Amino acid sequence: MVLDVNWAVKWLTLCAQAMAEHRVELIELDRAIGDSDHGENMDRGFQAVLDKLAEAPPATPGAALKLAAMTLMSKVGGAAGPLYGTAFLRAAGTMGDAAEIDPAGWAAAVSAARDGIVARGKAEPGDKTMVDAWAPAADAAKAAADTGGPEVLSVLVAAAEAAEAGAVATDPLVARKGRASYLGERSAGHRDPGAASSALILRAAVGAAA
Ligand code: ADP
Ligand code: MG
Ligand code: MG
Repeated sequence: MVLDVNWAVKWLTLCAQAMAEHRVELIELDRAIGDSDHGENMDRGFQAVLDKLAEAPPATPGAALKLAAMTLMSKVGGAAGPLYGTAFLRAAGTMGDAAEIDPAGWAAAVSAARDGIVARGKAEPGDKTMVDAWAPAADAAKAAADTGGPEVLSVLVAAAEAAEAGAVATDPLVARKGRASYLGERSAGHRDPGAASSALILRAAVGAAA
C-alpha cells in the first residue's frame, strides 16, 4: 500500500461520505453545546471538495490536500472552516510535490495539521476542541512511524485510533474555547463536535488505504 494521489482522492471522498452519514449526529452534538450547524457545515464543505476534485483532478497528494484546504476554508464557515482549512494546508505543505507519502510523511502531515489548528485557534489539549483529537493523533502517528516498520497502514490506524479515543475523552471536559465555552460547566457531559468530525477524517484516511 502506498499513499499516492489515488489514496488522497479516495480519502477526501470517504471524508465526504462520512460527513454525509454522520451529518445528523454532528448536528446533534453541536446542538447540545453549540449552534447545531457543524454537521451541515462539514457535509456541505466536503461535498464542495468532491466537486472541485472532479473539476480539476490533482496530480499529487499535496495538491489534493491543498485543494481541500482552499475549499473547506471558503465553504465550511464558522470556527471549523478556517481551522480545517489551515490543517489541510499545513499538511499539504509537508508533502510538497511528493508522489507518495511514507510513514514518517504521514506523521509529519498530522503533526503539521495539529500545529496549524493550534496556531489558528490557540486551544490547548483539554480545552474540549478538535485539538483533543489531533494532538493525540499526531503523537501516536509519530510514535508508530518511529518504532514501526515501513508499513504505512499501521501509522494511519494509530492516528485514527488516537483521534477516536481523544474525541471520546472530550465528553467530561469543560469547554475553554469556541462557542461551547459560553456554556461553562454545562458543556461537560457532551462530546465536542469538532473532535468527533476530526476522528471521522482520520478514520477515513485508513479506509482509503484498506
Ligand atoms: P461554530 O462554532 O462557529 O458554529 P462549527 O460548529 O462548525 O463552528 O465548529 C465547532 C467546532 O470547532 C468545535 O466543536 C471545536 O472542535 C472547534 N473549535 C472552535 N473553536 C476552536 C478553537 N479556538 N480551537 C480549536 N478548535 C476550535
Ligand atoms: Mg456550530
Ligand atoms: Mg456556527
